[in-house]
Amino acid sequence: MSAYPPGLNPGQPPQPWNPGMGPPPPSDPSQLPPASDQPPQNVPKIPDYPEIPGYVSVTFGKDTPVKPPPQPPPQGNPPPMTFTDLANLDEESCRQAMYQFVSEHCCYGSKPAKEMKITDFKGITALHYILETFAEGRTTMNAHTPYLGGPVDGPENGPPPLPWTIPCDPDQKFRTHSKKIEVPHTSVVCGCTGCDQRGWNWCWRCGGRGRAKCTTCGGDGRVQQYDSQQQRQVAVMCHRCHGDGLALCMTCGGDGRVTCSTCQGYRFVRCYILLTVAYTNHKEDFILETSDMPDELVRNVSGTIIFEDVQPMVWPITSYPVPEINANSQRLVSSHRGQWPSEKILSQRQTLRGVPVTEVAYTWEGQSMRYWVYGKERRVYCPDYPHQCCWGCSIL
Ligand SMILES: [Zn+2]
Ligand SMILES: [Zn+2]
Ligand SMILES: [Zn+2]
Repeated sequence: MSAYPPGLNPGQPPQPWNPGMGPPPPSDPSQLPPASDQPPQNVPKIPDYPEIPGYVSVTFGKDTPVKPPPQPPPQGNPPPMTFTDLANLDEESCRQAMYQFVSEHCCYGSKPAKEMKITDFKGITALHYILETFAEGRTTMNAHTPYLGGPVDGPENGPPPLPWTIPCDPDQKFRTHSKKIEVPHTSVVCGCTGCDQRGWNWCWRCGGRGRAKCTTCGGDGRVQQYDSQQQRQVAVMCHRCHGDGLALCMTCGGDGRVTCSTCQGYRFVRCYILLTVAYTNHKEDFILETSDMPDELVRNVSGTIIFEDVQPMVWPITSYPVPEINANSQRLVSSHRGQWPSEKILSQRQTLRGVPVTEVAYTWEGQSMRYWVYGKERRVYCPDYPHQCCWGCSIL
């Protein structure tokens, strides 16, 4: 099978059509298509492209997923898991964190922070378990690009490799991104069906007439103008179209034809199969935080890594002293194993972080209240800080 249509010599690049080339538009308007205010909606034009083994279901303009080969579960024994211990904050650190919190809120008065009496503080370690599954999906579609001449890599060079045998590596693990690859030996040069191989189409705006509805007067031929003698608006002849409502078409420059957008005027397109390799980092987490602070605050602050493990496929944590962690690690690991059947799992990472949370009880002006210091950044969560609007605001 040849990659070129009969009569096309790859050594002689096709000449693109340019405005003004070829015969002038016919003068009989009845031979022309209608003019329109809107460009045509993109109607996919499908060149006559042969079926290629391994790619039979591939269609133009639509990605078709290709199922990966089956993957065995992890083999052997789980690696030994050791966990890091964590330390908590003291009273002075909690007080400093509160000063910092107040200084970051320009509207908060510092008086309660200075005067509050810390009556109790309790260190808690919030646990944050994260499972990431870095997986790869492959889709194929037919694509085309203008053929500018020269040799192409067609089916005569051998059967194209099957989608999952084409080598491709991610730029970075655990980051979602995608790559596009032309499948070797799938290029075929086809006559452009978007323009019947002319390189041009009739201009949609003027329908080939070269003149279109005047945009200054909207086709009326007349515009309203203020007459100072009569002291009112009067209709006068449109200076742009001289009254006939038609002006030079700006879309085709008056030629009546526009370059074909499918082949960009080259009359031929090179059709090929485009493989898209999509790398996705599927991430799910579980937070165990036992104080009354909202749990999700733990997600975006730093803590200490208690355990981290990167494997082609991880084993769930089973021996951590907190049973909720073991149970949720098992739940997430088993749900990730079968959740994306059209993707191949490349790598998994599980992370268990300990995030320090200190619950501080204090009294101020006879009231008992609480705040929380969380994360290594020592952020403060204090929803009912007594002076949320300082004196400055009410005086000014
Ligand atoms: Zn036009
Ligand atoms: Zn006009
Ligand atoms: Zn074309």
